[in-house]
Amino acid sequence: MARNILRGSFKLMKSINRSLILNIIRERGPISRAEIAKLTKLTPPTVSSLVKELLLAEIVIELSLGESSGGRKPTLLTLNEEMFHVVGMDIGSQNLKIILTSITGKILNKLVYPIPDRSSSDELLSLMKESIRSVIAGSGVDVENVVGIGVGMHGIVDVDQGASIFAPNLNLQNIPIKDELEKEFNMIVKVENDGRAMSLGELWFGNGAGLDSFVCMNVGLGIGAGIIINGRLYHGNHFISGEIGHMVIDIDGPQCTCGNYGCLQTFASGPAIVESVKKEMRLGEATLLSEMTDGNLEDLTGELIYEAALKGDSLAKNTLQQAGRYLGVGITNLIHTVNPRRIIIGGGVSNAGDFLMESIIQTVNQRALTQPAKQTEIMLSKFGEDATAMGAVALILAELFTSRNSERAAAH
Ligand SMILES: [Zn+2]
Repeated sequence: MARNILRGSFKLMKSINRSLILNIIRERGPISRAEIAKLTKLTPPTVSSLVKELLLAEIVIELSLGESSGGRKPTLLTLNEEMFHVVGMDIGSQNLKIILTSITGKILNKLVYPIPDRSSSDELLSLMKESIRSVIAGSGVDVENVVGIGVGMHGIVDVDQGASIFAPNLNLQNIPIKDELEKEFNMIVKVENDGRAMSLGELWFGNGAGLDSFVCMNVGLGIGAGIIINGRLYHGNHFISGEIGHMVIDIDGPQCTCGNYGCLQTFASGPAIVESVKKEMRLGEATLLSEMTDGNLEDLTGELIYEAALKGDSLAKNTLQQAGRYLGVGITNLIHTVNPRRIIIGGGVSNAGDFLMESIIQTVNQRALTQPAKQTEIMLSKFGEDATAMGAVALILAELFTSRNSERAAAH
């Protein structure tokens, strides 16, 4: 019931003034009607009547706060955080992570499922459906109040169709995610590449909030990026914008899964870091990791390398710093291409951020062309490993809170 009202009201909100007001309440609330009128330059009666619709749809509530200086106490408006919820899913190469959040991005439930080896598209879709049912059931919220499902998927994603065109690490193609999930759950479904979803999450809730331009890098099993220009996510002509893991850093480097040689992700992804440490261990390099893996190289993981680095192990520290130098080269290339205000780094490898950042910043400082370019801000994601799932949530919020009219207006 509530969802129907909400859906109806979101349809209504495809009007520039309603979404303008809703966004101001989202960004600045609790806020009074008078303040909204001042900020939007709408007349007080217009604001009142539009706020009334938002109150009826229960997406906004009134708070009696604040001291009045004589006269009536001002009534403040805020988003109805408790009422509506969003599901965000991150489909990586090995795991499916799913979260349920409030419409302000507060995580209420989180589940992680391993994706079985050699899963078919149908098996993956079944796992997605099961995870959605479980995350909603486990959170105790009413399914009627879940407004949408966002999906961040590694690989090439057709955003218009909501389909995964190619998921290289699962070796799957043409998965009709949006169609299947909409049929099953009867709510809005949006699908996006994981790196791009992550950048949208940073724009909505994280270290990209309020920035006009930034690039968000997802460094994990692969390396991808989302590029925000003029406050908007850039997709490119054929959905491959941001595939920086396949930016060639060394034409004589090792072969990549894509077939080319010397791609950035052959040097700085999680598997590349693990491979590099294994190679040194096989050559007999002394390291705490020999003991930590009981001499079994197959048990070596990125987490163990990070742990060893924390204990001061030179091989672990040097390898992470070396990965940082390669990331720094990739980031310098990005700075020269996009010239963003800030670079944000998330994903599994960013958990070792303290060992990467110094060499990243040093490399950019050595290589970038101008003084301001050298000083481009570089920081870690606010959400670490949850960054893509948060981005998937932001896909739905962007759909709900942004009217096509206001997008067009913003472009002018
Ligand atoms: Zn490649």
